[in-house]
Amino acid sequence: MSDSVAKTFKRYTVTSALPYANGPIHIGHLAGVYVPADIYVRYLRSKDEDVVFIGGSDEHGVPITIKARKEGITPQQVVDKYHGIIKKSFEDFGVSFDIYSRTSNPIHHKTASEFFTNLYDKGEFIEKTSLQYYDEEHKTFLADRYITGTCPHCGFEKAYGDQCENCGTTLNATDLINPKSAMSGSVPVMRDTKHWFLPLDKYEPWLREWILESHKDDWKTNVYGQCKSWLDHGLQPRAVTRDLDWGLKVPLPEAEGKVLYVWFDAPIGYISATREWGEQTGKDWEPYWKSADSKLVHFIGKDNIVFHCIVFPGMLKAEGSFILPENVPANEFLNLENDKISTSRNWAVWLHEYLEEFPGKQDVLRYVLTANAPETKDNDFTWRDFQARNNSELLAVFGNFVNRTLVLTQKYFEGKVPALGPVDDYDRQVMAEMAGFPEKIARSIELYRFREALNELMNLARLGNKYLTETEPWKTFKTNPERVQTNLNICLQICANLAILGEPFLPFSAAKLNRMLNLETSKWDKAGSADLLSDGHLLGEAELLFERIEDAAIEAQVQKLLDTKKSNEAENATASPAKPVIEFDDFGKIDLRTGTIIAAEKVAKTKKLLKLTIDTGIDKRTVVSGIAEYYEPENIIGQQVTILVNLAPRNLKGIDSQGMILMAEDHDGRLSFVAPTTAMKNGSEVR
Ligand SMILES: [Zn+2]
Repeated sequence: MSDSVAKTFKRYTVTSALPYANGPIHIGHLAGVYVPADIYVRYLRSKDEDVVFIGGSDEHGVPITIKARKEGITPQQVVDKYHGIIKKSFEDFGVSFDIYSRTSNPIHHKTASEFFTNLYDKGEFIEKTSLQYYDEEHKTFLADRYITGTCPHCGFEKAYGDQCENCGTTLNATDLINPKSAMSGSVPVMRDTKHWFLPLDKYEPWLREWILESHKDDWKTNVYGQCKSWLDHGLQPRAVTRDLDWGLKVPLPEAEGKVLYVWFDAPIGYISATREWGEQTGKDWEPYWKSADSKLVHFIGKDNIVFHCIVFPGMLKAEGSFILPENVPANEFLNLENDKISTSRNWAVWLHEYLEEFPGKQDVLRYVLTANAPETKDNDFTWRDFQARNNSELLAVFGNFVNRTLVLTQKYFEGKVPALGPVDDYDRQVMAEMAGFPEKIARSIELYRFREALNELMNLARLGNKYLTETEPWKTFKTNPERVQTNLNICLQICANLAILGEPFLPFSAAKLNRMLNLETSKWDKAGSADLLSDGHLLGEAELLFERIEDAAIEAQVQKLLDTKKSNEAENATASPAKPVIEFDDFGKIDLRTGTIIAAEKVAKTKKLLKLTIDTGIDKRTVVSGIAEYYEPENIIGQQVTILVNLAPRNLKGIDSQGMILMAEDHDGRLSFVAPTTAMKNGSEVR
């Protein structure tokens, strides 16, 4: 057994990655970080542990300033908007933070400034002057994100100075070929600027010992492996400050125009939020961060491992008064329908949209994301799997068992819990198995194996379902009602156990189940017991715990993604290359005129062709055009067009076509008339 499970702690500080406030939250965030963190915390609370669950929005950094610039609003307006959306999504999905704060709060500015000053006063930083790109038009240093150019690895022309989004390589702005300022479009120049660095290399021997030796057995292999790789490559001093006007001002007089790097200020946000929670609740926040008998656990995605396992512990160690994380159970990534989730490509299931389309089905998503959690490797979310897990697991096993139990109790015992009669070997065996579940589930949760824990919960529902099916109370009631009393008593006790043990995973359904059983929420230590419901206890109204999800709902979601894919392809489609060069004389042979459609009809027995009569200003003539799939004849009468009038006539379906109408055609084959933007006299020359 691992150290952190064997050790006992007086209190728990559980943090979850601060989502970046420049967009809403999607299923990847929920699966990777917030659902597992919430399961863990709800479990601890059910065990009556002292726990604080910290969350908040990360509101500094360059992408927010880029978004603000793009939308013509201030960075503050950007973060206000998304902080609100994100916070609401978490509330809607039952993520039970004790506080959901934000890094733009004054208490955070105070806490992070103090942290910086403390390290500065202790002489923990190195000062370095370095060359950085500078935009002379905008008179500002450029963050790496503000520089675009060609990726040296894959040749992608729109790579950012910090990363190529085409091949995923992490870059330095100086790696880019043909760098350009994203602000002005000009070529940036190099200029000197002074910054403060945290000498991570100084902490490398300690980090090697702390991670590679002390946490060899209790950290997840994906986390441990990534840390080892970073440490084996050797750590470098890391800049703590940068030139930017959005963020936390560096609290030094000589640092005008500089802010703290977001990687430095964001994790301190966990501490600020805990302080804020302390102020709100009157509790002393300090033991949660400074007492050795507190267990600090960071829930994050794999892209954040280096910051939470190496950089932040390095900062905490340098500061000296804080505890270190006991574990960092980072998850891998969740993909969507075999493709990487991407905000910029809108390839995601957004939580706020999900709730509009599947109202009241938060637990279904929590269930599917946990059952399929990317705990050890990247995993895939598909809508078919979502439907199958709802219909054949939640509904067919869990829901069906609870529903049959309650309906039969209503029917045979007027909704009152029947007394347990004589028990046989099978009854005893089922009760003994039931008693073993709390420990099995707890152990999996404590080892951060939430899929396994959820599967055990479902095994309890399976046990109940099988017991009910095999004892067949609906058959035995006539001949042996006493037997049915025992059977239903045991089934009801299993239902009450499911409510306790299911609460961390499926909080909405557990609350519903408690209402149906007319029970208060019970604590974890009660689970396993076969007398949660006493004889004669009156049950509440039976409701459906889960509903079938029909094909049509799933097809609509799949179609939505296909539409997204199509529009992405259209957006990324590149124009076909230009044709060989021609002389002006060649162009001069072409006689283009403005004309107006004065009559239009479909050409019989064709799908695509319209017969048009055009007033060319020179004459009125017939042109056959392949636009019938895009235009109804009656809608284009009076439309001004550009017509090639000196094209040799062609016979199409028995009609002489005299000339050609110019159309623009896009990637999808969509057509549009090429016409003057203001009405022109028919016969005007186009050149
Ligand atoms: Zn690339």
